[in-house]
Amino acid sequence: QWFVKVEPLVGPAMEAVKQGEADFVPEQWENTYFRWMENLRDWCISRQLWWGHRIPAWYCSCGEVVVSQNEPAICPTCGSNDLIQDEDVLDTWFSSALWPFSTLGWPDETADLERFYPTSVLVTGYDIISFWVSRMLMMGVHFLPDVPFRTIVIHGMVRDEFHNKMSKSRNNTVDPLEVIEGHGADPLRLALLQAAGPGQDVPFSMDWVEGARKFGNKLWNAVRFVLNHTGAGSVPADAGYPDDPSPESAWILGRLGEVGERFDALSDEYRLADAYSMLYNFAWSEVFDWYIELSKALTDGPEADEVRATLGVVMRDVLKLFHPVIPFVTEELWKELVGDGFIASSAWPVVPPVSAPPSMTTFQELVTGVRQFRATHGLSPRSELKLVIDDPNGVAEAWWDRQFLSLVSVVPTYGTDAPEGSTRIVAGSLTAYLPMEGIVDVALEKERLNKRIADEEDVVRKAGAKLTNADFVDKAPSAVVEKERGKLAEAEAKLASLRAQLVDLG
Ligand SMILES: [Zn+2]
Repeated sequence: QWFVKVEPLVGPAMEAVKQGEADFVPEQWENTYFRWMENLRDWCISRQLWWGHRIPAWYCSCGEVVVSQNEPAICPTCGSNDLIQDEDVLDTWFSSALWPFSTLGWPDETADLERFYPTSVLVTGYDIISFWVSRMLMMGVHFLPDVPFRTIVIHGMVRDEFHNKMSKSRNNTVDPLEVIEGHGADPLRLALLQAAGPGQDVPFSMDWVEGARKFGNKLWNAVRFVLNHTGAGSVPADAGYPDDPSPESAWILGRLGEVGERFDALSDEYRLADAYSMLYNFAWSEVFDWYIELSKALTDGPEADEVRATLGVVMRDVLKLFHPVIPFVTEELWKELVGDGFIASSAWPVVPPVSAPPSMTTFQELVTGVRQFRATHGLSPRSELKLVIDDPNGVAEAWWDRQFLSLVSVVPTYGTDAPEGSTRIVAGSLTAYLPMEGIVDVALEKERLNKRIADEEDVVRKAGAKLTNADFVDKAPSAVVEKERGKLAEAEAKLASLRAQLVDLG
């Protein structure tokens, strides 16, 4: 058997990480590395296998052993040409330890070695920090002498949805090729990346892949909508943000800029799961669910050109940001929207700062409240409703009116008096009243509210009784007592709101 004496290799390789020549991300994994290195024993590198690099040692019948880069013709001691090479091969991790430089032409001082060694980032799983990462570091620092990579990003391991290790005996393995066959490569990659928080294991569930596939459909439909307004191939690949946006467009451009900046910051820290989760939520909840809906009121008006341009650049930048994880879908859509070159050769988006209207959140809360009201009472989305908005701080803006009409078929008026028989929606400093006469059966509504009030009163009574019981408060674990206090506070808040609604009904 052949061994590597590790003592001369360990010190310099540990020192390189301590000095920050190579960094683990997340940093905690350097402890795994140090623990392994501190306890290292001499490394047996001969293996009795058929495959692998053959050990470069030759034996002569006189007892001489020759270790050489090239096959020796004769024995240096007795001159015999009857030399037999060792039949063992090198441990695969020994060969792999040389990989960062042996692939670049080492030991020759090649141009590739000069250009690509050390490389910037190694991405790998924590299960081979000891087998592979530590050995590449030892060999690199010894032979080059420099670390083979500056950053070591440790990702999670893919497990089943119950966090169990995948194994044939458990029969819980998933064949990625089958998933790709059924759902596509883009959804699989997006699902895995979103689940892979740094250094955490990745629970794999087909629901995740299915969710990612639905996102692809949603993106496809959103681009179709935009194409109807912009026309095919009309969006410039780089730059060109509208400089005088409408309030709605200013909002989405402002958000796009914030999201882009945060995305870059998270990516620089290798927090790709966080970066893509944030982008996914932005695209779905803000671009698809809000901006596309808001744009519908504007595409026929005086803002039409500006809104078309904003739709185009926002969707184009969303494609660019998603391209690294869903390359197929985004490239296909890029061809239609931009029609010029490849996404990968376009510039990464940098959106100039745009100040958004401050009242957008309040407006969204009011619209959401109206939608909930319709849903609760089974009203058609197109039936026209009146809304009286009490706005003591002057938050409302002129653009609200057209959007209320377009999004929720609501005609707003502004005033301080609650109309008789109305329900209220509170958003920030605003209170809005929805008159229910002729829309909702007020008697039935009162009955419904009284029932809910009785339920909440019940919760308050029970929680209150527990919390005034000294025995419970003293003896129960503090988390349980806290939970009970939370329950009481929540029920009291609900009760106040329900009672106010009842008063509004007159
Ligand atoms: Zn010999």
